[in-house]
Amino acid sequence: MGVRQWIEGWPVYRQLTGQDPLGRGAAVTSDHTRHLRARTEQADKVVKSICPYCAVGCGQKVYVKDGRVTQIEGDPDSPISRGRLCPKGSASKQLVTSPSRVTTVLYRRPYGTDWERIPLDKAMEMVADRVLSTRRDTWQDEEDGRPTRRTMGIASLGGATLDNEENYLMKKLYTAMGAVQIENQARI
Ligand code: SF4
Repeated sequence: MGVRQWIEGWPVYRQLTGQDPLGRGAAVTSDHTRHLRARTEQADKVVKSICPYCAVGCGQKVYVKDGRVTQIEGDPDSPISRGRLCPKGSASKQLVTSPSRVTTVLYRRPYGTDWERIPLDKAMEMVADRVLSTRRDTWQDEEDGRPTRRTMGIASLGGATLDNEENYLMKKLYTAMGAVQIENQARI
């Protein structure tokens, strides 16, 4: 590189002689920066979604390449968040891609000191058995002479990411079972 070329590449020289006298743009942009490309440019497709972390329900754009999530950003079309995500929502890509993500059922039996991996089918059976026996053991037909026909042994506390339809189905299910303690955090 010649001396002249070196001087012309110097940010202060570019700032004093170019179109960027305040040094906030082209004058201070290095070659390295100029050639950086957003990873979103490489995406095969963009899928609209909702942040799963809390009840605000911010809109997200999920960038996918070769079937894998490569980036998650705020969705400017969302009337709720208008393109913004808080730090949790911005980091939600890790929910999908983190190597420490738990993808199997873990069970720790009473008095057990360690987690055991069990098949999903077995875990579902165990949950169903417990629901049935709890309902049977705690069923109240009446209290103080008044009919109740309920169980106080089962309660439901839903998460923020359950949507209207899921909460509708959960309410139906729990009410049909006789549970009366049903709550959710959904605002979506
Ligand atoms: S981005 Fe933040 S505020 Fe928005 S839904 Fe996710 S966790 Fe809630």
